[in-house]
Amino acid sequence: MDMTMKTVQEFLGPEPMTGIDGERGRHWIRHEDGDRLWLVLDRQEVSTNTFNEEVFRELNALLAHAEQENWKAIVFRSAKYSGFAAGADLSQFRGVEPSAELDARIAEANAVIDRIAALKATTIAVVHGTCVGGGLELALACDRIVARDDAKFGFPEVLVGLHPGLGGTARLTHRIQPIEAMTLMLTGKTVDARKGRSLGFVDAVVPERDVGKAVDEAVAGRMERRGGGRTGDALNLYPARKAAAYQMRNETEKRAPAEHYPAPQALIDLWEKHGGSEADMLKAERQSFAQLLPLPVTQNLIRAFFLREKLKGNGKGKSGIAHVHVVGAGTMGAEIGAWCALKGMRVTIEDPQVASLGRAVAGAHKLINRKLHGPEALHARDRFIPDTNGVGLRHADLVIEAAPEKPELKRSIYARLEKEVRADTIIATNTSSLDLAALFEGLAKPDRFVGIHFFNPVSKLDLVEVVRHDGVDEEVYSKALRFVADIGKLPLPVKAAPGFLVNRALMPYLGEALLMIDEGEQPERIDAAAEAFGMPVGPVELADQVGLDICLAVADSLAESLERPMPPVPQWLREKVQAGQLGRKTGKGLYDYDSDNKPKKDKVKQAPDKAMRDRMLLPMLDAVASTLEAGVVPDADSADAAMIFGTGFAPFRGGPMHYAKERGYADVAATMEKLVLVHGPRFTPSRWWQRAHD
Ligand code: NAD
Repeated sequence: MDMTMKTVQEFLGPEPMTGIDGERGRHWIRHEDGDRLWLVLDRQEVSTNTFNEEVFRELNALLAHAEQENWKAIVFRSAKYSGFAAGADLSQFRGVEPSAELDARIAEANAVIDRIAALKATTIAVVHGTCVGGGLELALACDRIVARDDAKFGFPEVLVGLHPGLGGTARLTHRIQPIEAMTLMLTGKTVDARKGRSLGFVDAVVPERDVGKAVDEAVAGRMERRGGGRTGDALNLYPARKAAAYQMRNETEKRAPAEHYPAPQALIDLWEKHGGSEADMLKAERQSFAQLLPLPVTQNLIRAFFLREKLKGNGKGKSGIAHVHVVGAGTMGAEIGAWCALKGMRVTIEDPQVASLGRAVAGAHKLINRKLHGPEALHARDRFIPDTNGVGLRHADLVIEAAPEKPELKRSIYARLEKEVRADTIIATNTSSLDLAALFEGLAKPDRFVGIHFFNPVSKLDLVEVVRHDGVDEEVYSKALRFVADIGKLPLPVKAAPGFLVNRALMPYLGEALLMIDEGEQPERIDAAAEAFGMPVGPVELADQVGLDICLAVADSLAESLERPMPPVPQWLREKVQAGQLGRKTGKGLYDYDSDNKPKKDKVKQAPDKAMRDRMLLPMLDAVASTLEAGVVPDADSADAAMIFGTGFAPFRGGPMHYAKERGYADVAATMEKLVLVHGPRFTPSRWWQRAHD
């Protein structure tokens, strides 16, 4: 066997590149292999390949050199476990202004990809793991794409307010059926290798052991290119594209209104106007990309990407927690347990109500079957164990209590847990509104207690507040943060305080909406006011989603524990809750719900005005400011991140505090002062606005 070849097969891709006999540059490894040249990306100091100017300049030099030689084939691959490449390093896009320099930077990067497309040698991208954004654009510039069976492809640019900008829009729409190409780019979804093959941009799907053979086939010209050469396609003609684009615009407008999310519409315009010619579209794409990049909306979405990374960074390193025991299999406990099992933990779950446990098992299986398949799903289902006798307690590394919101009941549960769990087991409460210090009073080892506050629905909301109280052991607290990151959630460190951050900020906003209903305002109009600002759902619908019983409990508890007045709760809301009209979960709340659990909404009678928006929004901003004042959250960026990922706060606004900054803190405070005159002292602005901030 050719030992050089074996080394290449062994070390390219799935294994770290130690010992590879290639020539190592800073980010690329150049490996000569007979009549083939391998260019292997191994960006320094990061675990996932991304592209920046340095990576491209080095590649450009390698390509310039390769053009002078007589290679039969040039093969692109990655040396990282994580995959081929995740696209552009977004940090280079922050704070850019429209300028000739920006245009030049975009042109320089494109020239490198175009150079690959123009190479005389057969070019092959061998892809494993993640291959998205610019990674896929590089692959699309190659003659053939060979995917390892674990490869995942996609164009997530729309999620950060962009569309592909390295030729991807033109190359994909000319390699596969254009509507399929546009759908992939407009939704930002990823597809697996097999789907990529059926769409037509992946030419072969192979396991690692057959990568060498597939490359041989491609080099020998025996691997047919599946997509491409769509010259006869009717969509190459403008009238057909115009009709298709019209439909795409309508569909897109429903999900992402152009006013708030310009990128999808820019992408549709681009294809409609230039989709008939790959060369024209390549040229127009970079102009459109350069226009989108500096927009405040795009910059804020990029900001939201980094805010997510910031939260992830709160839980760096593994927690070592493998077994979670959940106490209480109701709405929250059942889903927390199911989520932990899905993410690889062993879960035991107890509840005095056998029926609750039955529902919990059914719900866990449903969630797991939706997210996983085959043996993986089977193993995850096996990891979720109903535990009627509390046997799991002795093995648990972490116990999460999600019993009803009653202090006496919770205290009696902790007293029992203390006796049964190991000395090093962490005990966490999911309480939304109870005072942690009072809950842990009288316990033998309060330092092992912590708050881990999930949001409902657990499978959809990524944020988890990790609550510290004065007596917590630092190692326990940091393990709790790491546990949250282990299960793929975003940990936010908060100090114990009424409502922590998210409920404290959300309640005044929901409370004003309820008061407006009380004053005779149309609920649909109130929701429309918030949606016009960019909230995914308005406060009335949100209150129904959270559950009116939960809203009422949190509102009452905040009204009791906070010094500042909260919006008074209308009597009819209490009556609704008493009558069991709790919102979406009971099919009736502030709205009625249809058989798909969608609210039945009337047409908005009169367009909402800005005053309505300010009346709801400013108390939310002010509540966030007062948590900052009280040191409940570490900084404004963390608070912004939490509101985006815990409540869906309009991400293109960059978060509540970022919005306040852009609007001007003085304007926020002055508008609140005016609202005091109309609605009373609950609008008194917090001191935070008056102090100097960077
Ligand atoms: P729930 O009423 O749906 O479920 C509570 C479960 O606990 C029930 O199945 C009940 O049978 C069980 N239980 C009762 N006594 C028990 C005991 N002694 N030992 C073990 N289990 C017992 O309540 P929920 O909405 O899941 O709330 C649970 C906790 O999570 C509360 O502290 C609540 O504040 C908090 N929380 C709720 C939400 C939400 O939106 N529902 C969100 C975040 C946090």
